[in-house]
Amino acid sequence: MKKWIYIVISVTLLGCAPEETETPSVTKGPIIKVNDTDFSKGRLGLYHEITLQDLEKFHGHLCDGLVVGMLGLNEGLLALYPGGIVDRTNTRIVSKGSPCLTDVAVYLTGGRYQFNSFYVSNNIEGIYVVQRIDNGKTVVVKMNKGVKPDEINVLGAQAEKGELESCDLDKLKDLENEFSEMLLSTNAKDNFTVTAVSDFEWNPVLKSDYTKTDILNKNKKECKQ
Ligand SMILES: [Zn+2]
Repeated sequence: MKKWIYIVISVTLLGCAPEETETPSVTKGPIIKVNDTDFSKGRLGLYHEITLQDLEKFHGHLCDGLVVGMLGLNEGLLALYPGGIVDRTNTRIVSKGSPCLTDVAVYLTGGRYQFNSFYVSNNIEGIYVVQRIDNGKTVVVKMNKGVKPDEINVLGAQAEKGELESCDLDKLKDLENEFSEMLLSTNAKDNFTVTAVSDFEWNPVLKSDYTKTDILNKNKKECKQ
């Protein structure tokens, strides 16, 4: 019995140990209004507001990809829903394969692969293709050239190959945070382009070999400098 009490206390204490909690450097971002059904068999008309912090909880961390996805997709959704309220029962989306972009896509649009309203493809133009189901209106969302600092792409590619040392990983994180801050403090219309497309072919391929690039360095040592 004593042994059990000891184990329970140890586990409890371990559970209380201070864990790394990330202080997000960005607390801004748009509020996106969404419309859903009001119970398991309910009618449309239940409204929620989604913030960048909500996306962070779903995704696991706040990163530049999450900010890119939210700001870019918001522009695309505004083109489909000029009233500013996104009908999550009426929207489908194709996303590029990044772990951040795909999480933003499903969370904001309600699209899911199993219901033929979401799939992933790196062959699309831009970062998203979003479609309003009732009228078929479809838009492509692109981030403008030159908006993302090239150094992030260069260091990011090295990190994905496991070639970035601990302190350089921290440098990459700072660069990404600065990029996020820049995106959040400038007009999204200057950073993203939304284009209507009339001939888009919805082709939901199921591919499960995308790399979850945001966990590749999870066991890297702390930077000691
Ligand atoms: Zn991320």
